[in-house]
Amino acid sequence: MTQEPIKVIDDKCVGCRLCVKACPFGAITVGESRVAVIDLTKCTLCGACVEACKFDAIEMAPKAAAALPDAFSDYKDVWVFAEQSEGRIQSVTYELLGEGRKLADSLKMKLCAVLLGSNTKPLSDELIRRGADKVYVADRPELEYFQDEPYAAVLTDMVRRHKPNIVLCGATTIGRSLISRVAVATNAGLTADCTGLAIDPETGNLLQTRPAFGGNIMATIITPNNRPQMATVRHKVMKESESDAARTGEVLAQTVAEALLKTRTRRLKMVPEQGATVSIAEANIIVSGGRGMQKPENFAVLAELAGVLGGAVGASRAAVDSDWIPYSHQVGQTGKTVCPKIYIACGISGQIQHLAGMSSSDVIVAINRDADAPIFKVATYGIVGDALKIVPMLTSAFRKALGK
Ligand SMILES: Cc1cc2nc3c(=O)[nH]c(=O)nc-3n(C[C@H](O)[C@H](O)[C@H](O)COP(=O)(O)OP(=O)(O)OC[C@H]3O[C@@H](n4cnc5c(N)ncnc54)[C@H](O)[C@@H]3O)c2cc1C
Repeated sequence: MTQEPIKVIDDKCVGCRLCVKACPFGAITVGESRVAVIDLTKCTLCGACVEACKFDAIEMAPKAAAALPDAFSDYKDVWVFAEQSEGRIQSVTYELLGEGRKLADSLKMKLCAVLLGSNTKPLSDELIRRGADKVYVADRPELEYFQDEPYAAVLTDMVRRHKPNIVLCGATTIGRSLISRVAVATNAGLTADCTGLAIDPETGNLLQTRPAFGGNIMATIITPNNRPQMATVRHKVMKESESDAARTGEVLAQTVAEALLKTRTRRLKMVPEQGATVSIAEANIIVSGGRGMQKPENFAVLAELAGVLGGAVGASRAAVDSDWIPYSHQVGQTGKTVCPKIYIACGISGQIQHLAGMSSSDVIVAINRDADAPIFKVATYGIVGDALKIVPMLTSAFRKALGK
């Protein structure tokens, strides 16, 4: 007789329902018999119910626990979702290929890119030059632009068929929207917004590090009971892979069933954000303002300096919450992570949630009239004084020096 991988010991179960609450998969019910019943078609053997039960009434067969990793041996390779927009690969993809290469090498697996779009040939070639060993391509006119439903359905189908071990995706608006749907559909483990990835040498699990509790601690998360392991990764935290014209790789065209392309939404047109010249995520120089700028009109002073330097304007959440500047400019834990060559923080105190988004900038210049402001602890150069007077002085000095 085959042994059940997990079972409820009827004599010990009191029907308290702690296991029902603990089960993330809705696999346990307590019926009229007042004994828990586990639906093995939904159970993933994660063990949460075993830990939750105060009466030792649920047992997982040791053989089943040991057999679990074997079931994962079908899951191979590290996948990177290649985000493209208007026919251009987004740079976060190259950052993921750079990091994915290290993960794939430690696991002795292949690094693969997954590309959805239309007329994708030049893009798949570039993904190979940037480090992909294989590129899975779904090339259909319907996939030219990102749309949640068809993109999620096509990627889910590919994940089910090819069983990747790890799937990485940028923590961008598209990435966050897409991968959460795919993770739910494939019952995968997903960690959002990672800033560090590594492989546990003993178990081969993906170690997914991200800030937690308001950025006060870094948490390393594992998803040992599920495959694939999925993570979204913050833009600008990892280094881009270099393009190497000599690299070769395989392009694997995927058949896409019509049913997967169904969508209830339609893209009418793309409207670029008004007023935004350079995106802070891509900028090499960012001039950022906080509550110390005092009113929305004073952001024009920052825009002028940014214009002279060819940079972008960023902001603290305090400035965004005051409606002085749109959210797309917010830097920090709940805004964008940026990594420019120069970050000029004007009237920003330097709270931990702001630092979480900019502290890896190469050079940080802080202007604040409070000499004890925490921003000075991370600043390369500090200027104590009134930003409203100092920024125009900098603008005119740079204008002269740069001959503008
Ligand atoms: C869950 C959570 C998520 C958050 N996410 C973010 C985030 O993504 N990004 C973010 O920025 N914040 C975030 N915050 C908010 C964060 O905690 C701070 O409240 C915010 O960063 C403060 O913004 P600030 O530095 O502009 O304002 P303040 O802290 O009020 O600082 C203003 C500074 O300006 C200086 N100043 C005043 N006048 C002048 C002047 N004329 N010249 C020079 N200096 C002057 C003052 O000395 C002061 O240091 C988050 C908070 C929470 C709880």
